[in-house]
Amino acid sequence: MDQDELLSNSFYKDVVSFLEVVEKTIDINPNLITRLKYPRRAIRVSIPVRMDDGSMQVFRGYRVQHNHVLGPFKGGIRYHPNVNLGEVSALASLMTYKNSLLNLPLGGAKGGVKVNPNSLSRVELEALSRRFATEIGPFIGPDKDIPAPDVGTNPETMAWIMDTFSLETGFSQTGVVTGKPVEIGGSRGRLSATGLGVVYIAEQALETQRKEISQSTFAIQGFGNVGSHVAIEAHAMGAKILAVSDIKGGIYNPRGINISELIRYLKEHRFVEGFPHTNTITNEELLELDVDVLCPCALESVIHEKNVNKVKAKIIVEGANGPVTPQALDYLLKNNVLVVPDILANGGGAVVSYFEWVQDISWLFWKEQEVREKLKKVMVDTFTRVWNFTKTYQKSKDKDNLRLSAMAIALLRLEKAMKLRGQI
Ligand code: GLU
Repeated sequence: MDQDELLSNSFYKDVVSFLEVVEKTIDINPNLITRLKYPRRAIRVSIPVRMDDGSMQVFRGYRVQHNHVLGPFKGGIRYHPNVNLGEVSALASLMTYKNSLLNLPLGGAKGGVKVNPNSLSRVELEALSRRFATEIGPFIGPDKDIPAPDVGTNPETMAWIMDTFSLETGFSQTGVVTGKPVEIGGSRGRLSATGLGVVYIAEQALETQRKEISQSTFAIQGFGNVGSHVAIEAHAMGAKILAVSDIKGGIYNPRGINISELIRYLKEHRFVEGFPHTNTITNEELLELDVDVLCPCALESVIHEKNVNKVKAKIIVEGANGPVTPQALDYLLKNNVLVVPDILANGGGAVVSYFEWVQDISWLFWKEQEVREKLKKVMVDTFTRVWNFTKTYQKSKDKDNLRLSAMAIALLRLEKAMKLRGQI
């Protein structure tokens, strides 16, 4: 792997810098850190698609398999115009740390196609997804590498990938992807799992400041699968959602937005703008609102050196992967803002993906309530482990650096496993 090519991507560089901070702070095998700076394998593919007008377009696709010392590779597939090898590698590394931190028997991977899914018809999207599945087919499978949805993909995308893989191998293999529709082996509760997990974590973070979720205010950036479910679940627990946004912009009401009505409104209107009883705000303005909990649930690097001094929230829960850059994190820590890192905060999706995989392998399916209870237990236990590590291990100047603790716990588990396997 060409390290320079990866490091030319600032997000990849940021993820590597999280590793280096841990290396400087705790006693850990330096060979582990050196190894983890390189993904194990990166697959680049061309995806030819015959478009509806008869022309041919070729899209670029990637699957990066970062580390699988703990179990099969696992991680989502993203469809977005900015997808590139560096970004997918950064996201694959974060999956290794997320799955390790959550104590799952899974490694880390990520895939992506450089495409704007909204500009393709459904027929074109299906053709693209099926061809991508064929190209990465030799490298995925229920005990090799298990994709899932991410930005720009959904249960339908997973159904196409599962079907293509199954047709090519000759029999139905439900366990090759997670986040599928329930009718074909998906888990109940998977669709809302990432958002619900974010809310369970927000509840824990608020508790450390002696606040209750039912008395708190939220601003949520991004209204995709993560952000919309954060809004629904937090609203159901009595929190006031002051602002939400999507790619076109945001809406704000200082008395709180009626989320059930907003969901009904979105069935007719594609975007949140224009929702009655709200003012229009920009995505940037949303990040600057004075709320108890700010949830950036869209894309990476949205809170950075240049805008971090305008953030007023006292708690940030990273629903997206990598929304706070390392420079912004330093500033926030100095200003006593509690930042709950992605690998903990948005781990709910990975946890219920694991539950789905287990259900597929055992052909025994659970009720939604059972999934939600099991998810809550994992999220609360993991938050507690990270919180306790912060209190007992870190020096006082690093107080409440949950990113450092979460990374340290994840790396110490990987260190043990890699040592036992004779890899470091
Ligand atoms: N794409 C999600 C994430 O970033 C889910 C991954 C999975 O379920 O494998 O955590």
